[in-house]
Amino acid sequence: MSERRVFRFAPSPNGYLHLGHAYSALLNFTLASNCGGRFLLRIEDIDLGRARPAFEAAIHEDLAWLGLEWERPVRRQSEHFEDYAAALESLGAMGLLYACDCKRSDIGRFAAAHSDWPRDPDSAPLYPGTCRDKPRRSVREVLAEGGAALRLDMRKAAALAGEGLFWRERGAPGRAPDSTVPDAAEGFSLVRAEPAQWGDVALARKDTPASYHIAVVVDDALQGVTDVVRGRDLFFATSLHRLLQKLLRLPEPRYFHHELILDDAGEKLAKSRGSATLRAFRDAGVSAAEVWRKLGF
Ligand code: GLU
Repeated sequence: MSERRVFRFAPSPNGYLHLGHAYSALLNFTLASNCGGRFLLRIEDIDLGRARPAFEAAIHEDLAWLGLEWERPVRRQSEHFEDYAAALESLGAMGLLYACDCKRSDIGRFAAAHSDWPRDPDSAPLYPGTCRDKPRRSVREVLAEGGAALRLDMRKAAALAGEGLFWRERGAPGRAPDSTVPDAAEGFSLVRAEPAQWGDVALARKDTPASYHIAVVVDDALQGVTDVVRGRDLFFATSLHRLLQKLLRLPEPRYFHHELILDDAGEKLAKSRGSATLRAFRDAGVSAAEVWRKLGF
C-alpha cells in the first residue's frame, strides 16, 4: 500500500498573510488534494516577542476565505516547548551543544575586525566559537536559567553525521521550479546538504527556548510530514534540517522549495514591508477565486 502523503503550511503569526503565503498555502493544499493526501496548518509562534493572537486569528480567517480546509487540532509551537527541549537534550547528550552568552553585537564586532569573515546563507557572520571550549553545562540547566543560547558544535555534529548527507528535492537543484503545480509523479533530485555553511548555529536563545530550525524538524517528524513544500528562501536552511534529522534519527521528508512571489519592483514580499496582504485584497473587493487565478492555479 502506498503511503498517504502529508503536507503542511506553517506560517508565523508575526503579520498578516500576503500573496506569497497564499501561494505556498494553495500549492500545499492542491498537492495534497491531488494525491488524496492530508493538509495540515501549523502555527510557528515560538518567537514569543513577535507572535500576536490577532495575526494568528487572521491566518485562520484568511485561509478559510481562500476556501482551504485543514485538519484540527492545529499544532501551535508555543504549546510544545517541551518537545523541542527533549530534542535539544538528545543533542546535548551527544556532546553537540554548548551554552553561549555572547551578544549579537559581540559577534558583529568580531566579524567587523576580521576582513572576509565568513557569513551564513542569511548573511549573518558565522559564530567565532568564543564559548565553544568553556566547560559544558547541561541543556536543562541552561534552558531553565534562560540566560544563554545553546549552540551546535558544527564540526563535531558534521563529523558525527558523516559524509554524504543529501535531501530529495523536487525538480533540478539550482534551477527555480516553474510555477505550474508539479504532478505527483515528477522526479526528485538529490541535493548535497552543506550544514557547515551555518557554523555553530544557535538552536535556542536567551529569549526563545527553541529556534525555528529545531522546532521545524521536530514538528515535521512528529506530524508525519512526508512533503515539505515551502519558499526558496528556506532552501539553504534545509542543509541544517537534514543534519538535525540525521542526528536525531528522524525520518526524512521530501522537499520542494517553490519560487517566491515578487512584488512589482521584483522584490520578495515581506510582512515587514507591508506588502499587499490578503485582507487588503479582500477589502478591495477581490474574490478568493481571483487570488487563485492570479497565483496561477
Ligand atoms: N514559519 C516559516 C515562515 O513563516 C515557514 C517554515 C517552513 O515552512 O519550514 O517563514
